[in-house]
Amino acid sequence: MKITRLETFIVPPRWCFLKIETDEGIVGWGEPVVEGRAHTVAAAVEELSDYLIGKDPLLIEDHWQVMYRAGFYRGGPITMSAIAGVDQALWDIKGKHHGVPVHALLGGQVRDRIKVYSWIGGDRPSDVANNARAVVERGFKAVKMNGSEELQIIDTFDKVQGVINNVAAVREAVGPNIGIGVDFHGRVHKPMAKVLAKELDPYKLLFIEEPVLSENAEALRDIVNQTSTPIALGERLYSRWDFKHILSGGYVDIIQPDASHAGGITECRKIASMAEAYDVALALHCPLGPIALATCLQIDAVSYNAFIQEQSLGIHYNQGNDLLDYIRNPEVFRYEDGFVSIPQGPGLGIEVNEEKVREMAKIGHRWRNPVWRHEDGSVAEW
Ligand SMILES: [Mg+2]
Repeated sequence: MKITRLETFIVPPRWCFLKIETDEGIVGWGEPVVEGRAHTVAAAVEELSDYLIGKDPLLIEDHWQVMYRAGFYRGGPITMSAIAGVDQALWDIKGKHHGVPVHALLGGQVRDRIKVYSWIGGDRPSDVANNARAVVERGFKAVKMNGSEELQIIDTFDKVQGVINNVAAVREAVGPNIGIGVDFHGRVHKPMAKVLAKELDPYKLLFIEEPVLSENAEALRDIVNQTSTPIALGERLYSRWDFKHILSGGYVDIIQPDASHAGGITECRKIASMAEAYDVALALHCPLGPIALATCLQIDAVSYNAFIQEQSLGIHYNQGNDLLDYIRNPEVFRYEDGFVSIPQGPGLGIEVNEEKVREMAKIGHRWRNPVWRHEDGSVAEW
């Protein structure tokens, strides 16, 4: 079998899909994207196609090593997301070729299902509490919320109090048995992260995510040691080499690589194994589309330390275009009792609706992050 064509589709709300065709008619799908840089990643995939066309799609490990090593420069969100999308599509092809799910080729599933969490939005305590209650009524056993809005490197305690009020309202609304993740979103700097983590301790959170940016990870050691809340990080790390310092430094309790940013199934599987050796949990990042989510479930299936999966069904980014719109078998993402089953179909286990993809690619998108500013006019982390 030979790879004959790579084709990317920029589709709303903010995604990029990749179709890889072969001379035997088997096609594979991947999701190579960085939110806000979809066209740049698509261009990186196009550059990789010079090497890939004509190659045997089943030799995934060798292709991964070539894509990573033979470009001389390596790593970072653009390259590693392009590699991720190609890698996902190659695994999809391999699974379809053998007529088995990807997880069967990775040693077989260690679990039947995995817990999923839902995002809750809202600025005021009453809004977040109502949103949390609604999500729990839909069966979710865990929720995630943003911690703060913009926060300066040193800020006033009323901002901290605002975060506490929101978290307290959610805890009161959902009771003690629902997991609450609080995402600081890299908006918080070390001096305030310390204060916030301490103040949030009484609310028995599931985790605090990105208490500081990953490039400031050494600041996490104090936070990890000072709070009883598990600390999560990793959506902005892209390879084993990015994760090794975080793991060996003892900076985190949970890693959150994104299977569309960190080299795909091949690399995330290895990152998960590295974390297992440090007794660190895995919670794959995935605010993306259906191919990325299907990919995550394949990795969750075979990663002993995976315990929860992010997913974007109904997330605020997806207004008007949700992930189920792009597949013909949306039942694979039917959540029951707060869990989603490990997909059992061949390859990634989803049937991409190519007509819909082509139709929506005509619309495309130019999604960009908002740019926030502090009250003094300086730019704020979003
Ligand atoms: Mg996050």
